[in-house]
Amino acid sequence: MSNKLTEKIVNLIKSNGPITIDQYFALCLSDLEFGYYNTCNPFGLSGDFITAPEISQIFGEILAIFLICAWEKHGSPQSVKLIEMGPGSGAMMFDILRVICKLRPDFFSVLSIHLIENSERLRLIQKQKLSSYIDKISWYLGLDDVPSGFTFIVANEFFDSLPIKQFIITKDGIRERVIDINHNQVLVFSEADPEIEENFISYCDYTYGAIFETSPYRDDVMRSVSNRLGLEGGTAVIIDYGHFRSGIGDTMQAIKAHRYDHPLMNPGLADLTSHVDFQRLSSIAMLHKLYINGCTTQRKFFEGLGIWQRMFALMKSSSQSKLLLDSVRRLMGTIHDKKSMGELFKVLVASHEKIDLIPFVSE
Ligand code: SAH
Repeated sequence: MSNKLTEKIVNLIKSNGPITIDQYFALCLSDLEFGYYNTCNPFGLSGDFITAPEISQIFGEILAIFLICAWEKHGSPQSVKLIEMGPGSGAMMFDILRVICKLRPDFFSVLSIHLIENSERLRLIQKQKLSSYIDKISWYLGLDDVPSGFTFIVANEFFDSLPIKQFIITKDGIRERVIDINHNQVLVFSEADPEIEENFISYCDYTYGAIFETSPYRDDVMRSVSNRLGLEGGTAVIIDYGHFRSGIGDTMQAIKAHRYDHPLMNPGLADLTSHVDFQRLSSIAMLHKLYINGCTTQRKFFEGLGIWQRMFALMKSSSQSKLLLDSVRRLMGTIHDKKSMGELFKVLVASHEKIDLIPFVSE
């Protein structure tokens, strides 16, 4: 056995039988003793992966511009709850607040900040990073705990870390992918009968052996986001890697020290994620009568908000021009490279009312 969480999972399977992929996800990422976000240093060069706000401050700065414009379009409400789901190191919120404070002190003065974070360890890191704004900030375990009021929600790489289920289309019908142990007590993938789920129907005509994914957990979070916007008013910006259309495919991936790792090899020591189904998130928002401002690529969203212009302005006074250019190029990628961040990452923006928000234009 390679680590303590493996040991814990093996014992769990020995006493209760195989576990589902969503149970495995929750243990790997959030187990209080050995979960990844409670024990490891995920972010930056010394960590396991680099997220957009860690690549460049421009990412959060442009989001600040988006929020300023959205605030004006919503009629400049005089009390605003700015909620971030899964703030990581706090870097994105830091850049957002710095720019809003500088450009629109009137907006800044009506903001309170609400961070949804279930890792004690990351909460401490966020407290340090955001110490200059600490009077404005509160932490919560879930969205439903945040006090009522007009709301902006931002989430970058949050939904990809929420547990998924996997199913396999076989000649004997649809089976759920589970994790079992072999005779050497090593974790292995296996199959079991699934609980019946109504959303299977759209997947049934695919080929034998194909895997498809659902995420009841992600659906619940999206329902909470939609409910809140419907009740309190406001706009949500969800950024993550994923696909515009629902489909088949095994997208579960583990990342350790900036390399792909086998998902069963290092539970709790590697980040575990999957690609987000933006069609499903948009459908849930629409079922709650939200207005979808748009769902586009990260590249189009940030270019539409002027990321290159901001970069050139910064370059004039920076001794780090090359670094700036490289980082923005990394965030934007090119239209031809579907695996680049700019194409792989999508941005979904939804509001409680029909409203024109840059860079989206309504018909
Ligand atoms: N948004 C950050 C970090 C992304 S990593 C960035 O872009 O750099 C995912 C973040 O979501 C971490 O802060 C993790 O602790 C948090 N998280 C994951 N699952 C969560 C859950 N169920 N509830 C609350 N926070 C969660």
